[in-house]
Amino acid sequence: MILFRNIRLLHPAQNLDRRADLLIDSGVIRSIGEDLAPPDGAEVRDASAWVAAPGFFDMHVHLREPGATHKENIRTGCASAANGGFTGVCAMPNTTPATDSVEVVQSILWKSRGLPVDVLPSAATTKGRKGEGLAPMGELHETGVRLFTDDGDCVESSEVMRRAFEYASMFDGAVISQHCEDHTMTRGFAMNEGATSTRLGLAGYPSVAEELIIARDIMIANFCGGRPYHVSHMSTGGGVDLVRRAKAGGRTNITCEVTPHHFVLTDEAVAAYDTNAKMNPPLRTPADVEAILEGFRDGTIDVIATDHAPHALAEKEVEFQNAPNGIIGLETSIGLSCTHLVHAGVVSLGRLVELMAINPRAILSQPIPAIEEGAAANLTIFAPDEEWTVDTAKFKTMSLNTPFNGWTLKGKPVAIANNGSVVWSEL
Ligand SMILES: [Zn+2]
Repeated sequence: MILFRNIRLLHPAQNLDRRADLLIDSGVIRSIGEDLAPPDGAEVRDASAWVAAPGFFDMHVHLREPGATHKENIRTGCASAANGGFTGVCAMPNTTPATDSVEVVQSILWKSRGLPVDVLPSAATTKGRKGEGLAPMGELHETGVRLFTDDGDCVESSEVMRRAFEYASMFDGAVISQHCEDHTMTRGFAMNEGATSTRLGLAGYPSVAEELIIARDIMIANFCGGRPYHVSHMSTGGGVDLVRRAKAGGRTNITCEVTPHHFVLTDEAVAAYDTNAKMNPPLRTPADVEAILEGFRDGTIDVIATDHAPHALAEKEVEFQNAPNGIIGLETSIGLSCTHLVHAGVVSLGRLVELMAINPRAILSQPIPAIEEGAAANLTIFAPDEEWTVDTAKFKTMSLNTPFNGWTLKGKPVAIANNGSVVWSEL
């Protein structure tokens, strides 16, 4: 039993923004009110610097299980999520074997049972993520899968994408998502194509290779009757523009996510050949970052997702062009988002809750946790004004591949409550 004294309750979908005492007992929000008397045995915490929001949900996470458990597993990935302030994650399907069958989905669900973080597996759009035959979406949908993506790779064939949209239309809430990359234009890339790649002599991934696929998929989704379509880890200004225009046109049920590293860093971070600045899509230009911030300001961007992509140290400690793509993100997402979006005046704290808790759940047809007496406690508690220094020694993820170690951030996860547990962040 924990009594949070004078906490700010912030839930934009409930029009809730007020201070109160909050009593959590056995996984349930027992009482909300002024000057609550602590029941016998209750732990009482001064929470006047903290916010309680519906549990944050990261809809783009690589848990690496099955197949690459030397990088991460479901248990450590969920511990990392809890430490970073998330109560739910959507697991990406580029596992080995690929998450394209009921058996793999069931094994992921089985291994995540009883954890304080909910795991919603996504599934591959195509069998084996090969971009050809479609995965058995009906059976997968029955296990609870809502997001279909070949993430890590792009479904290159327009014909296969058309069939995927048509097939998905048979299942309530099924969303097709895409890792947007025209692979014919990006072979052997190490970073964004631009002035920096020329200077460093590294092969580039031009922004147009991402934008071409976004544009094409919007057209196919519209052609198929306005099917739901979600753009993964969007990184370019042109992409923001395409999504903005599609939304303004009103015919497309389109949503998009952006990672913290794509709104905080630019391709200049590659200059020191730090392999923790190597990811797919690559870090882009200052103009792209500015356009993304504008996309946050005007509501074009729906979701912040981390693309948490653990790799073992030895895998990243190689020549830049040979290093695998991706960085971890679960334990820095709240800090980076508070610092670079909220405190920078780009979005309000309420909008942050929409971007990190409400919108990802809505896109994936997951219930939005309520903040009211009697509701199951599914909460993220964070300190938006607390300064802290990122220290990977305190991370729960198995991997250390982050460019943010040693950074000072303003905004820190405090705890999560979910599935009957309260987990305090140890960052
Ligand atoms: Zn991807």
